[in-house]
Amino acid sequence: MHGTQTRQYEDVLQLQTAQQRLDKVLASIRDITRRVGREPHNIRLIGASKAQPAAAIRELAALGIRDFGENFVQEALQKQRALADLDLIWHFIGRIQSNKTRDIAKHFAWVHSVDRIKIAHHLSHHRPADQGPLNICLQVNIQQEPSKAGLSLQSLEEVAQAASALPGIKLRGLMAIPQPSDDLIAQRRPFAKLRMLLEQLNSQGLRLDTLSMGMTTDMDAAILEGATMIRIGTALFGPRRRAPTV
Ligand SMILES: *Cc1c(COP(=O)(O)O)cnc(C)c1O
Repeated sequence: MHGTQTRQYEDVLQLQTAQQRLDKVLASIRDITRRVGREPHNIRLIGASKAQPAAAIRELAALGIRDFGENFVQEALQKQRALADLDLIWHFIGRIQSNKTRDIAKHFAWVHSVDRIKIAHHLSHHRPADQGPLNICLQVNIQQEPSKAGLSLQSLEEVAQAASALPGIKLRGLMAIPQPSDDLIAQRRPFAKLRMLLEQLNSQGLRLDTLSMGMTTDMDAAILEGATMIRIGTALFGPRRRAPTV
């Protein structure tokens, strides 16, 4: 990466194998963390596997990736069944309908996209006691876009305090999906803001350790601003194989 040039889809789409794609993502993580004095192992790489077949997940799992993020419950459960022989950690990263919270609470280790206190209550209620607390992140509508998922900046503190008091779930941090931009400076701004919000909540007594931010085209900006989890689809899997709406 040079200057403020950002990562583009085109170059990752030319890589042919899962190994090549993974090597490139890992090299970027090493490169960017080195620039800011962070340790690569503090960035948890989550394969965003929506619209990718179970076989593609299996291929990445064989290369050492254990964390996968899915957006649709039915699609995720099918893949989980097909991959039940593997020791994987499943993250729910999609929009949450309240009638799906029972399945989500039962079949995932993490939920990144909690954007209403009602959903936190449902997840808390449905989490089976023998599975330990479900890790959750609150999704923030960081640029206050009219029709975007995520908590408003005004409601964040109240929801965070309330969610952190619920049994069965453990509030770990914040997640955001900023507007696309091909300018590195512009990409960094909303991520810096999310980090600041996390620090604010921690100064108010919470103990949050997770910033879930960064996708294929803005992962560098996210890592520069302190991401602890990046959710990478296209750069790891190549183009999505079918419409992600199972
Ligand atoms: C699809 C998706 C990603 C990954 O997107 P890419 O641009 O393909 O890396 C990350 N996070 C969420 C919430 C997604 O829906």
